[in-house]
Amino acid sequence: MDKNTNQSVLEVKARQLLTERGVDLEDIAELVYYLQAKYHDDLQMEDCRYNVDRVLTKREVQNAILTGIQLDVLAEKKMLEQPLQTTIETDESLYGLDEIIALSIVNVYGSIGFTNYGYIDKQKPGILERLNDKSTGEVHTFLDDIVGAIAAAASSRLAHASADDKLLDD
Ligand code: MG
Repeated sequence: MDKNTNQSVLEVKARQLLTERGVDLEDIAELVYYLQAKYHDDLQMEDCRYNVDRVLTKREVQNAILTGIQLDVLAEKKMLEQPLQTTIETDESLYGLDEIIALSIVNVYGSIGFTNYGYIDKQKPGILERLNDKSTGEVHTFLDDIVGAIAAAASSRLAHASADDKLLDD
């Protein structure tokens, strides 16, 4: 643990990788706002940020980030073996393991997350549109699903917390 922030090595690395790949906590908080604003009167961005931050403390989420981004980066550097290299580099639609990894994140906060994840994956608002832009030469086959899943999980967490009328601590 880092004694100043209480973050594990895994958590520090996961947060750093997201930043390096161009995704800020704020971008994910905006997705949560997009998903949840219609259900909560007076939803604040601060609540969205807080819930994203809490999701990022989960080991399952950190491992999904590390694994998915690693594969994206290796594909971007053309360092994977064929045929996996082409599958990931071109984001082949029948591959599906990017979505399976993302679902391991959504799972952490129960079933409401699935609906949110499906919805945001279809709409692709905000940062998701940029991550899906195939003209950049960057590979975000895993990251787009991971970011959508973190937003969906944070939305579930926020929904549960407001249903219980208190802030959850885990
Ligand atoms: Mg994908």
